[in-house]
Amino acid sequence: MKGSVYELKRKCGKPGCKCTKGQLHARMVLSASEGGRTTLDVIPSGFLVEVKIKVQRYQELRRCRARLGELHTKMLQIIDEMEAMRREEMIPGKRRATAERSEQNKRNKGVPQKRGRRRK
Ligand SMILES: [Zn+2]
Repeated sequence: MKGSVYELKRKCGKPGCKCTKGQLHARMVLSASEGGRTTLDVIPSGFLVEVKIKVQRYQELRRCRARLGELHTKMLQIIDEMEAMRREEMIPGKRRATAERSEQNKRNKGVPQKRGRRRK
């Protein structure tokens, strides 16, 4: 449940009420902003514990979502870095070494084409 729970104290406006003498009416309310507007809902008696638990759970879930967002960004960074590293192996020096090695492998396996070319 989105919002925050707090005690709202106010005067009711009735003349001669105890609130005019400083004893304000206290109510537990749920305050939440939606699209720039703040809504205020009085929490019915007996629902305070349930509302507080739901509000706390919502805040936990929001923190989890923020963390997931960070992890997602981190994952993309790692994937990008990995791709960059893969391309980095294609520098000329490395490429020649790899080519020599594969030629060596072919020679060991006895590929006829290579031998034929070498005799010419
Ligand atoms: Zn009053």
